Amino acid sequence: SELPGDPETKNQRRQVHDAFYSFVAPTPTNSEPVTVAYSGDVARMIGLDPAECDRPEFAAVFSGNAPLPGGPRPYAQCYGGHQFGMWAGQLGDGRAISLGEAVGLDGGRYELQLKGAGATPYSRMADGRAVLRSSLREFVASEAMHALGIPTTRALSLVATGAKVLRDMFYNGNAKYEPGAVVCRVSPSFVRFGTFQLPAIRGGDQLALVTPLADYVIRHHYSHLEGREDKYEAFLQEVVSRTAHMVALWQSVGFVHGVCNTDNFSILGETIDYGPYGFLERFDPNFTPNTTDMDGRRYTYRAQPGIGHWNCAQLANALIAAGLVPLEKAQPIVDAYADTMMDAYTGRMARKMGLTKYDKDVAVGLVTLMYEDKADFTNTFRALASVSKGDAPGSIPAPLKQALEELSEERQEAWGAWLDQLRAAIKAEGRPEAERRADQDSVNPCYVPRNQLMQTAIARAEAGDYDKLHGLMKVLEMPYEEQPGAERFRVTPPKQIRMGVELL
Ligand code: AMP
Ligand code: MG
Ligand code: MG
Repeated sequence: SELPGDPETKNQRRQVHDAFYSFVAPTPTNSEPVTVAYSGDVARMIGLDPAECDRPEFAAVFSGNAPLPGGPRPYAQCYGGHQFGMWAGQLGDGRAISLGEAVGLDGGRYELQLKGAGATPYSRMADGRAVLRSSLREFVASEAMHALGIPTTRALSLVATGAKVLRDMFYNGNAKYEPGAVVCRVSPSFVRFGTFQLPAIRGGDQLALVTPLADYVIRHHYSHLEGREDKYEAFLQEVVSRTAHMVALWQSVGFVHGVCNTDNFSILGETIDYGPYGFLERFDPNFTPNTTDMDGRRYTYRAQPGIGHWNCAQLANALIAAGLVPLEKAQPIVDAYADTMMDAYTGRMARKMGLTKYDKDVAVGLVTLMYEDKADFTNTFRALASVSKGDAPGSIPAPLKQALEELSEERQEAWGAWLDQLRAAIKAEGRPEAERRADQDSVNPCYVPRNQLMQTAIARAEAGDYDKLHGLMKVLEMPYEEQPGAERFRVTPPKQIRMGVELL
């Protein structure tokens, strides 16, 4: 590689300087791996016949039990990051190991990375393994987000290793062994904001590492900027813009990442590192799926846009420290995040409501009602296309009424009054109804990976039955198409249930 690597090859936890990666091989498990699921779409994208994924050799390689035939030396990346707002020093791929790159059908290069295939120099106190529960959640989310049209790392496969992993011992005394699994993530790059931050914040002679990293990332992933005199500024500007668009799209489907640390922000503006993420069901802007963030509430739904901005500032700081972008140039570039994010967000929200122009009164009115009535985020927006210009004043169209469940007469009146406002705005725009509805349906999904659906798929998968998972994946492949017989994928939790998931 063109980037400096770690000359030390002993697989031992350590601080790594002067390098962006360490060679380290997956640690085989003494067990029989089984392919639980794979994405035929990703397989084809990297030029692999999906039928190959059914072979035992595939499970062996993608569990980390066997080397990739003809592959280069596997490696783990070195990076740092701000965790929950505090500089955490070196983090790195503690349980991710890259097997190399595949050249895709589109001519692009795709890195194949195993997550959970054993310890690396960056594993610190942890074991380098992943459990089936969290691996299944990452696999599902990666492919679901892609189908939703949101930039994300992809997932080729989910392989159960057949070995057990010990979990939760420090949290609540409930130590237990769980089935282990490995996800193969796929992306053109797994470089993070924190990859730039680590040498920049270490400072001293490590500062010199930032320039070759920036050059490398620009050469391979922002090659249209090569040769420009202001290439580092232009690079920062593009990363900021991509990040702003990504976060705006998260907001538009109610996706809450849950761990927006700078080591979990991709230099490509892709959603990366699915841990305790969640999709809003009963609307609450203060929702976080992360049980370790219940007090801090740093990464709630409403906080994400601001956090994206803050993270971009940290990336800018690294480029400034290395002398690649002057502060006075970086400042307006980072500031532009706010307008870019808001333009993308309001544009999307307008379309979700059936409008071409964002109307703040209408939008705030809607989310206020949704909050007060604990309305299901996905179902409510999807039902908004049923609104007609010609509806009787104060009326609620049947699909929306169904999405909102039981409402008191008073609450029906409140919704009716808001709907009159929306109907007036729709009428004023004068678009053909069919065109407006089709556009709404293209931005309001019917299906998202609801927690309960994943819990069921997890429970079955842990018992060796993968049908529920496969059924869920099938529905999530076409989230904007209403699918016959898929009503149970739209069920929202009871109103009394606090949103949240088990600590992952
Ligand atoms: P995360 O919060 O999941 O982004 O992880 C933060 C850091 O902890 C990263 O450096 C991970 O590689 C590392 N890490 C998380 N889980 C494990 C594990 N089971 N074994 C080793 N390292 C881990
Ligand atoms: Mg991470
Ligand atoms: Mg993680």
